[in-house]
Amino acid sequence: MPFIDDKNIDENPAFKEAVSSEKIKAYYALTSYSVIGNLLNGLIFAAIMSIKIGIVINSIWFLSNALIILYRIFIKRKFEKEKMFHSNRYWLIFAYSGVILNSICWGMIPVFLFPETGIEYQMFVVFVIAGMSAGSLASLTVKKSFFVIYTASLIFPLCLRFLVLNTLISYAIAIICCTFFLMLLVSAVRQSRVIEDGFKTKIKFETARNELRISETRFSAIFNEAPIGIFYYNSEYLIIECNEYFASILKSAKEKLIGLNLLTLKDMRLMPAISSVFNGTIGKYEGEYHTKLSDSVLWIGLQTAPIYDKIGNITGGVGIVEDLTEKHKVEEKIEYQAYHDSLTQLPNRDLLLDRLKMAVKQSRRHDHKGALLFLDLNRFKTINDTLGHQIGDVLLKKVAGRLFSVIREEDTVARIGGDEFVVLLPELSNDTHHAVSFTKMVADKIHEALITPFDIEGNVIHTSTSIGASIFPHQDESFIEVLKHADMAMYKAKEEGSSSTHFYDSAMDEYLKKSLLLEKDLKQAIINNEFILFYQPVVEIKSGLIRGAEILIRWNHPAMGLVFPDDFIEIAEDTGLIVQIGNLVLEKAVETINSWTEHPFDKIDHIGINLSVKQFRQTMFVKQVRDLLDKNPKTAGKIIFELTESILIDDFQKTLLKINEIRESGAMFAIDDFGTGYSSLSYLKKLPIDVLKIDRSFIKDVLIDEDDAAIARTMIDIADHFNLKIIAEGVETAEHVQFLDKLDCQFYQGYFCSKPVQLEEFTELVLKNYNALIQ
Ligand code: C2E
Ligand code: CA
Ligand code: CA
Repeated sequence: MPFIDDKNIDENPAFKEAVSSEKIKAYYALTSYSVIGNLLNGLIFAAIMSIKIGIVINSIWFLSNALIILYRIFIKRKFEKEKMFHSNRYWLIFAYSGVILNSICWGMIPVFLFPETGIEYQMFVVFVIAGMSAGSLASLTVKKSFFVIYTASLIFPLCLRFLVLNTLISYAIAIICCTFFLMLLVSAVRQSRVIEDGFKTKIKFETARNELRISETRFSAIFNEAPIGIFYYNSEYLIIECNEYFASILKSAKEKLIGLNLLTLKDMRLMPAISSVFNGTIGKYEGEYHTKLSDSVLWIGLQTAPIYDKIGNITGGVGIVEDLTEKHKVEEKIEYQAYHDSLTQLPNRDLLLDRLKMAVKQSRRHDHKGALLFLDLNRFKTINDTLGHQIGDVLLKKVAGRLFSVIREEDTVARIGGDEFVVLLPELSNDTHHAVSFTKMVADKIHEALITPFDIEGNVIHTSTSIGASIFPHQDESFIEVLKHADMAMYKAKEEGSSSTHFYDSAMDEYLKKSLLLEKDLKQAIINNEFILFYQPVVEIKSGLIRGAEILIRWNHPAMGLVFPDDFIEIAEDTGLIVQIGNLVLEKAVETINSWTEHPFDKIDHIGINLSVKQFRQTMFVKQVRDLLDKNPKTAGKIIFELTESILIDDFQKTLLKINEIRESGAMFAIDDFGTGYSSLSYLKKLPIDVLKIDRSFIKDVLIDEDDAAIARTMIDIADHFNLKIIAEGVETAEHVQFLDKLDCQFYQGYFCSKPVQLEEFTELVLKNYNALIQ
């Protein structure tokens, strides 16, 4: 009965019924006292009046009264036994019947038992009637109508009786009786209201208590039995209560959890959800969770809500926790199955396309190149047909394993069809040629990995693959086209024979073929010692004297003639041949410088030697250089190794160590092409370098472009600030030299003095320069 919240509760029929039931109950409860009083008073009255009026009539009256009392006792007992089985109305009728009979019985007194004479007897009647009426205040006011029926039945016949007596005193008594009735009525009305209010309050209270009990029962059923973890925490983040399920989710005990400070959790990913309640908002978290007490990893769902006190202050929060670990595992498994090939466990076509799409997008955004290799196993159909599908399946698994072993972590190998595999190399280089070379290298590794025969259940199986490669992004090719083009290239590769690789883009294919040829030739060139060193003078601006040179390599190709470094250094770097070439240069340079003992060559005190980053990174590099220079300490002091800023991308500490180690031999270091790379000043401060070489792109327009002039000026200032020598490259005119002189630039190098020339010519140049300036 939802009375509590009902504003018009007094009108509520169920409530009215409940109040009525209370009244009936009270009436029957009071019946015992009432009948005792009735019986006792009736007995005394009848005994006294029998003296005056006669024993017969009084006995009849007394017996009638006694019978009525018995009847009332009977219905009271009936009520006590059967009250549940009958309506309020039913019991009310019985109650009325008892009251009415009782009223009639006592109302008969003024009619039949009233003495005509004897004022003391008459007063006795008045006293008894008044007493009984007043007494009924206690037992009958639970229901006003009972009281009215009873007292009216007693008092009004008495009044009439006195009126009939027709004396002044009898009139007065009649009037006093009426007044008495009215006074009783007023107190009865008030008393009945108080009683009724009491009943109402009692009912409301009991109803509220029942409802509370019900909701408590419901709540504790949820709290204890629901398959959900519930915990309460206070404003100090302490867990103040939790259910068993919560403890079981966390694989811990309730006693250990109560009192736990949430701020000391191992996994703080839940904290935003937990603390959001203190801002009055609901918090949510779904994800992985590392438990503190049991040290296990779960996947949970948490929802928190604030808890308020009576005046609306937040006192803490309630958290509802769901263990989603199993569900998550199933979802993960389903997702895994949706994106992986069930035989090899490699990513399937869908996942590959997803990653390819991403890779193509990224490569466009960051302006770098990636590659896609499309592989088709040769002879797979024959193997399947002759040795059976089971062997075919094992072969595919083993192929997957070998492919996996040759790729980097960030690459993807996918199986997209029967014997078709795809390798995605998402991030290779900013430079297309580098990307092509790297892709070729991976393709070669794949060919190599698959060429070793497979041993499956005693069968020695030979297979190979044809690889189609596509470098992306290429023009406005979509990611689907990248895959299509790699597929097309694969068919071309198949035509070229087993274990071959074909690039979709013909220019790349050309480049690759050319570089393959060059690579072959370069190897030969190293054997045949086809490299020549050229020398480009470095001039001291103030004196005009040649004080140094940069050594620049040329390749005297048997068929192509003189090949410049720009046409072979890149391939030499990609193939790793640069290391050997670099060593040749260094050895030859040292040999030449060793011979420069005579005047005016003793004036030449710095010889630049270019170092490729790859060469510098070789683990053996420092040792080889040290071995060579330590044997020629005089020469070592004249060498300046030229490194580009790209060396700084790598491990700075390592670079620093290597430079320092080489510098111990007396050699110096220069930053070549300064200004074109990572123009960060902070490394200049930290790197132990001696020389800055301003890139020729800044010098070219230094006289016409104010920006270039400003840059050149700044570079010179920087070098001055860090106490570094500075060499301006690409100086082609006398105006260039003048300009640099004004800026206090110390050295220059460029066509204005001389192009790089062979040793003999260089020797002549030095002599000529010296002689011209001495005179
Ligand atoms: P680099 O170190 O910047 O060398 C300077 C380049 O600028 C040389 O080209 C040189 O001929 C050219 N040059 C010099 N003065 C002028 C000028 O006034 N105007 C113009 N337009 N150009 C001038 P080169 O010899 O073709 O060398 C190209 C690059 O090849 C070099 O650039 C260097 O990075 C690399 N290189 C050369 N020799 C070697 C070597 O022995 N080892 C390594 N690892 N790289 C080398
Ligand atoms: Ca250089
Ligand atoms: Ca340079």
